[in-house]
Amino acid sequence: MDTTTVERLMRQLLSEIGEDPDREGLLKTPERIAKALDYLTSGYRADPQDLLSSARFTQETDNMIIARDIELYSLCEHHMLPFFGRCHIGYVAKGKVFGVSKLARLVEVYARRLQIQERLTEEIAHAMMDSGDVQGVGVIIEARHLCMMMRGVEKQNSVMTTSSVLGSFLYSPATRSEFLSLISRPKP
Ligand SMILES: [Zn+2]
Repeated sequence: MDTTTVERLMRQLLSEIGEDPDREGLLKTPERIAKALDYLTSGYRADPQDLLSSARFTQETDNMIIARDIELYSLCEHHMLPFFGRCHIGYVAKGKVFGVSKLARLVEVYARRLQIQERLTEEIAHAMMDSGDVQGVGVIIEARHLCMMMRGVEKQNSVMTTSSVLGSFLYSPATRSEFLSLISRPKP
C-alpha cells in the first residue's frame, strides 16, 4: 500500500465532505487513516496456509475440537464500515491439531480484508479444509454491522448469523448437532 497516495486521497476526501483538512484537529488525520487502513487490510498480505502449517501438533484424537468466541472485527465491502462479533470454529482432526491462537490468527487474516460476513465464514472453513489436516469443520459467525446500525437501515440491534460446514460436518447430521450443542453451552 502506498501510504503517500492514501494520505493525499484522504485529504481530498476531507475537503469533499465539507471539512477543512488544514484545521488543527485534522492535520494528522490522513496519516492516521493510512496507518489504520494498512493494519485493517493487512490480511491481503498474509497467507492463511503458511499460518496453519506453522502451528500443527501431532495428537491422535477423533474428538471434536472447539474454539469458541473468537473476537472478530472486519470491514464490510459495501460501505467500508466495521462489522464485529464472534466466530466459533469446530473441527475433527486427522492426526494433527492446531494451536488455538493460530485459529484466532486465521480469523484475523480473512477479517482484515474487505468482506461480507457470508464469504468470511466460508473462507475460514475452506482454509481449514484445504490444510488437509481435518476430517470436517464448522464455522459460525455472529456479528453486528455498523453500516446497518449507524444508517438506521434495519433493526439497530440485529445480529446476523452465518455458518459454513464442510467434510464430516456436512454429511454427518450427528457431527453437526454435536458442534451446535457444544458452541451453545453456557460458558464455564
Ligand atoms: Zn455494509
